[in-house]
Amino acid sequence: MQFLHKPYRLITKSGMVKWVDDSSTCVFNEHGNIAYYQGVLVDVTQRELSRQKMLKNQRSLQRLAHHEPLTGLPNRILLLDRLKQSIKKIKQIKKCTALLYIDLDKFKEINDSLGHNAGDKVLKSVAKRLLDSVWAMDTVVRIGGDEFIIMESVSSIEDVKKVAEKLNHSLQQSVNINTHELFITSSIGISLLPDDSEDPEELIKKSDAAMYRSKQQGRNTYHFYQNTEQ
Ligand code: GH3
Ligand code: MG
Repeated sequence: MQFLHKPYRLITKSGMVKWVDDSSTCVFNEHGNIAYYQGVLVDVTQRELSRQKMLKNQRSLQRLAHHEPLTGLPNRILLLDRLKQSIKKIKQIKKCTALLYIDLDKFKEINDSLGHNAGDKVLKSVAKRLLDSVWAMDTVVRIGGDEFIIMESVSSIEDVKKVAEKLNHSLQQSVNINTHELFITSSIGISLLPDDSEDPEELIKKSDAAMYRSKQQGRNTYHFYQNTEQ
């Protein structure tokens, strides 16, 4: 009988870590019981360390492909992926999915008056506030510039309104950047899966259109795509 194992770690007497592969065979006595094992241990430390490095690189590449560097939030690619999964499940579950497209109001003024670095700090602080305002299973995305999307599972329109109001309220709290106390507002547009579309790109477009409606109506408010169309 032969036993094959995955590589495993050994600590040598001097405390060094070695990865080994073993291949061993049972040697039986005359009664058919195992008397001892015989086999070989192969030092595969270099191979194992290279494999682990490669896996780590793959993971960080994957993270880079699905997140944006400034805030560490998921990006558009990951959002599209999650939307596709949500679309597949939507017929089985009673809940619907809301996309809340958030664009900060007059954000350029912060960059222009306090500099790009201060603007970056505001974006990071906004990312944190958005994350703190939603459930862990919701997705908070930075779609670009001062634009974010929240994808959230909801049971009713009232739920969505509550979320939009909570977000507006949370962003309105002052942010302290380089000794300046800043007040931020945002304009929000909302599209609903499946009511507005079952196509991920279309849903994003519709939430964006609804967000523009909020801008047109004086900012610091939210609009649903369906009302935007009326
Ligand atoms: P509005 O109320 O119409 O949205 O006005 P706004 O000034 O916010 O204008 P808009 O949303 O069009 O502009 C967003 C600005 O965000 C434009 C760009 O200079 C700035 N921006 C984009 N990416 C970054 C970034 O990574 N860091 C910083 N600091 N600024 C950025
Ligand atoms: Mg803006």
